[in-house]
Amino acid sequence: MFGKINEEIIKKLIVIAGENNVLTCQEEVCGYAYDEYVSQLPGCFPEVVVRPGSTEEVSAILKLASENRVAVTPRGGGTGLAGGCVPVHGGIVLSMQRMNRFLELDRKNQLAVVEAGLTLGEFIHSVEKEGFYFPPHPGDEGAMFGGMIATNAGGSRAVKYGVIRNYIRGLEVVLVDGQVIHPGGKLIKNSTGYNLLNLFIGSEGTLGIITKAIVQVMSRPTFLRTMVIPLNSIEQAIDNVPLIFEKGIVPMAVEFVGLDVITLTEHHLNLSWPTHQGEVHLMIIVDSPSEDDLSRMTDQIADVVLENGAIDVFVADTPTKQDEVLKIRSNIYEAIKKETVDILDICVPRSEIPGHVRKIQEVARKYGLWLPAFGHAGDGNIHTHLMKAKYENSQLVPVNLEEIKDKLEAAREELIRDAASRGGVISGEHGVGLYKKKYLPLSVEATQIELMKKIKQSFDPLGILNPGKIFD
Ligand SMILES: Cc1cc2nc3c(=O)[nH]c(=O)nc-3n(C[C@H](O)[C@H](O)[C@H](O)COP(=O)(O)OP(=O)(O)OC[C@H]3O[C@@H](n4cnc5c(N)ncnc54)[C@H](O)[C@@H]3O)c2cc1C
Repeated sequence: MFGKINEEIIKKLIVIAGENNVLTCQEEVCGYAYDEYVSQLPGCFPEVVVRPGSTEEVSAILKLASENRVAVTPRGGGTGLAGGCVPVHGGIVLSMQRMNRFLELDRKNQLAVVEAGLTLGEFIHSVEKEGFYFPPHPGDEGAMFGGMIATNAGGSRAVKYGVIRNYIRGLEVVLVDGQVIHPGGKLIKNSTGYNLLNLFIGSEGTLGIITKAIVQVMSRPTFLRTMVIPLNSIEQAIDNVPLIFEKGIVPMAVEFVGLDVITLTEHHLNLSWPTHQGEVHLMIIVDSPSEDDLSRMTDQIADVVLENGAIDVFVADTPTKQDEVLKIRSNIYEAIKKETVDILDICVPRSEIPGHVRKIQEVARKYGLWLPAFGHAGDGNIHTHLMKAKYENSQLVPVNLEEIKDKLEAAREELIRDAASRGGVISGEHGVGLYKKKYLPLSVEATQIELMKKIKQSFDPLGILNPGKIFD
């Protein structure tokens, strides 16, 4: 059982972080009760929100929490899609929003040192101004470094450039008893003992609080081109993806998306997509320092897809046209969120995407559901949306949730089992958090889960760090 926050603890928190950074009144703390997941679990309010301004303050807060066995839930930008920062056991929400400094740009090593509360948007702005580039791009730029590292965030550029894990060289982490450690460093290579750095990446705030990170940046690819390719079916779209890779081309992003959700997002934003032909579109982004090379790649891709069922090929070659396409793609979630019950984050081996996509269609037909699936066709990460709506006459038509609840649950489980049978996992980038933990045993062997629990026990023997996440 967890300790309750009392007057004495509040007084000590005020001494540590200052009165303005200890929030207890209902109106102030309710904004720290949920993330961007489609539904909110009721009754998960923090007893107190603390906004530390330094590593020393985080350390003192954790010491105090340990002494009183109080639950501590770290929170970054709150953009998570798995309920990871939801304080299911009340206690302290540790908001990292004040620790938002860009500490160093080390040009020689192409590294940046940042505090955990720096947002992705602010980081991109700072490094691009200095001529550098940071490839990972989870869709919401309000995400903070601590949150992105704790979820091992991905994004559409992962197919060529990898995920956050591939860019984190070192961390500063505060352990539950207040000790501060520094796994990794400004290093490319490191074979020195167990890799604690990688253990913290993706640990969802359950092993320690990340306060600083050493982040790899790279030189900016000079030219980008975005292609939109309409096709008649999802199978046709997906079947084209390996053919592009077989030509030796690795695009920066390969996304597939249905015309249904594109149309809804166009209406939502009042913007227009380059074409309305076909049923499913591939959106491919290629990048290169050479414009000739870029033309070679787009020509080769066009040849491949036109030979294999594409209706046409559109190339957005100006920044304005590219921005419009990307804006529509990035806002699909916002456009359909109101009628979304869950977003699956299944990841399968790339070769298994066609099989899994066929399964999604089969399950949708079997239960009479609209299950728009779109996502990162280049890396196997497919976001199937469980909807309480149908798509009719270019509109969302709501359906009574009570009537389809059991069907949605059955559909979810069939898709998760299908992914597992193909060597896939329940989360490619959002994390397990609160909402996917029930399905962890369908994705990870029981022995692995036992090992994970032992790791949790050795880092957090009292179980106060983000309790109720990943597993109970
Ligand atoms: C429109 C939209 C598009 C998105 N697209 C993508 C996408 O393409 N790819 C992708 O990967 N994600 C995507 N996401 C999800 C989300 O942006 C990522 O999961 C992101 O990494 C969360 O960062 P955050 O700072 O908001 O973390 P939060 O939501 O605040 O927290 C996430 C987890 O990290 C833990 N945590 C936070 N800070 C710390 C810390 N300092 N130390 C230890 N643990 C900490 C929390 O306890 C929680 O478990 C999208 C979200 C939205 C709303």
